[in-house]
Formats: sequence, structure tokens, C-alpha cells
Amino acid sequence: MRILVTGGAGFIGSYVVEQLLAKDHAVRVVDNLEGGRLDNLRAVAEHPQFEFHQTDIRDADSLGRAFAGVDWVIHLAGIADIVPSIEQPRDYFATNVQGTLNVIEAARQAGVKRIVYAASSSCYGIPDEYPTPETSPARPEYPYALTKYLGEQLVGHWGRVYGLETVSLRLFNVYGPRVRTNGAYGAVFGVFLAQKANGRPLTVVGDGTQSRDFTYVEDVARAFVMAVESDLAGEILNVGSGGHYSINRLVELIGGEVVHVPKRPGEPDCTFADTRLIRERLGWEPAIDFDDGVARMLASIDDWQDAPLWDPDSIQDATRSWFRFLGGESAC
Ligand code: UDP
Repeated sequence: MRILVTGGAGFIGSYVVEQLLAKDHAVRVVDNLEGGRLDNLRAVAEHPQFEFHQTDIRDADSLGRAFAGVDWVIHLAGIADIVPSIEQPRDYFATNVQGTLNVIEAARQAGVKRIVYAASSSCYGIPDEYPTPETSPARPEYPYALTKYLGEQLVGHWGRVYGLETVSLRLFNVYGPRVRTNGAYGAVFGVFLAQKANGRPLTVVGDGTQSRDFTYVEDVARAFVMAVESDLAGEILNVGSGGHYSINRLVELIGGEVVHVPKRPGEPDCTFADTRLIRERLGWEPAIDFDDGVARMLASIDDWQDAPLWDPDSIQDATRSWFRFLGGESAC
């Protein structure tokens, strides 16, 4: 099959591309290279079944041209991070909502059969239920979460109205090598590994007892491949590791000094996916456990030396809008 992967030069996308090529699919990547990097695609650049288009999903005309001959789509292109989404909500709307509309419209016009959308577990906000099932109410807490959720709604709606087969995968805290470190403060792995590589203290938020459903990127990529190869339609599925791990546990595995920074308002004390549905519908199971995943990241610790380095002062500056605009409490 010819599969178009938007955001294919990004962190998750580049693993999806590798796995699709390994399964003998033809892959066309669309990426504007703002968040993504060609270096992520180094291993596949010369593959005869691989094509790259430097195209922005906000540019509907160019995007349409990239869809010729495409059977299936995996839509990962988007912008992440909480603080910039609070400060520049229009940019998030333009890329994550209007950009998604452009992708599904291009898919419809090109007669694409199936689309798999990278949705976000941030749609659950601070959930009432753990592990959190897909039926939990959507309560986005900040513009990034809202725009990813609106994208999911668009994809589902296009599925119902135009007969596209759609699957949305709600991703929980994806981590692994190539995790994005450019740009805004966020994604704890990038922050901690840069600190570790430079012999600086790890900036633990609050008391570090909060936990996340950290899910290894290769497992997540495999969920995309299985979803696009499936015959599911109109599905929304959580993708999680089957557990949740505290920041203190992560610190123990990484090792080193710690410094505490204030707990941020509006963030859940726990994220933990109920993964029964994806196991049942796709037969997908996570394969890499947390200790193993962290060990794999530590194996390339030297690569993190040049990544942006955060300390309590720069974190305080970077999270000002967060403290100003968000509020709320949660418990696991
Ligand atoms: N975190 C931390 N120190 C940091 C950045 C994050 O202790 O410098 C914690 C944060 O409180 C959260 C977890 O790491 O519990 C994951 O944060 P991230 O921003 O990666 O993801 P999200 O909060 O969106 O789930």
C-alpha cells in the first residue's frame, strides 16, 4: 500500500515510517521540518519505497498535490506543548485544527480509504476514573489539548459523513530516543536527559509522586501500523503502557541530584490509560517495559549534551503563563 505519513520526520512519525517500510509498504512523508528533522529519517532516506515532501499541512493546495495515489494516511503532523498553546492559540488552531481539516479534505478528494489520527490523552484533562477509558468525558484544560481534540472530532465526523475509515489513537506520554527537545519547555525526558548529560540537577516538579503512563515510542509506532493495516472504522483507542510510573521512579532510574520546582496548576497527578479496548480491537500489546525503555534512552545519553538545558529559574520564566491561566486539582 502507499501510505502518506504527515509529520513523518517527527519523533513518533519517524518510527512509524521505519516500521511501515520494514513491512514493505511504500511511504510518502509530508513534513514542514519545523518540529521534525531529516536526521530522524537518516536510516530510510535511500530506501527505494520512501519519498519525502517538504509540505506544510496549513497549505491546502500543496498538500492536495502530495496525496496523488495514496491508499492510507497516518496523520501525526501537529504542534505540541502547553505554554506556547496558551500564548499563541491561533497557531495551534491553524495547524492542529485547520491543518487536520486540510488533511482529511485532501484524503477525501484523493479517494483515500483509511486514516489514522494521532490524538492526545490530554483530552481527558483531569479524569475522574483511573485507568481512564475512552468513554471518560473530554475536558481539555488548555488550547493544545482542545485543538488536538477538535482534530479528533473532525476526523470522526469525516468518517461518518464521507465514509472514510478512521481510527484515532489517544497517546499517553510517549517517550524514546529522538524525543523532541527543540523549542519550548516540556516533555520531562528531554529536560531530565539534558540535565543528566550536563551533570546538572534534575528539576522535579512538586514532590515527584505524580505519575505518568509513559509509553515507549516503538510500541506506539506499532499501534499506528496495526491500526492502519486493520479494517477498523470509527474507532477511538487509548495507547498506553499498561501502568503508570512516578517521577521519583524515573529519577531513581536516571540517577543524579534533584532540585524541586513548584507544582503546576491544572496538570493531573496521574495519567493511566485503560488499554482493554486496543488490546481487544487490534490485539496490540506494549512490549517495552519502563525500566527497559529508560535504559535504552540512557544508552545514548551523550547525544543529549547539546539539548536545551533547563534550571529552576528558566523553568519559572517559561511557565509564567501556565501559572497565570490554569487552575485545578487532581488525585490518582
Ligand atoms: N516534570 C518534572 N520536571 C520537569 C518537567 C516535567 O518533574 O522538568 C514532570 C511533570 O510534573 C509531569 C511529568 O514530569 O508529572 C510529565 O511531564 P510532561 O510535561 O513530559 O508531560 P505531561 O505533564 O503533559 O503529561
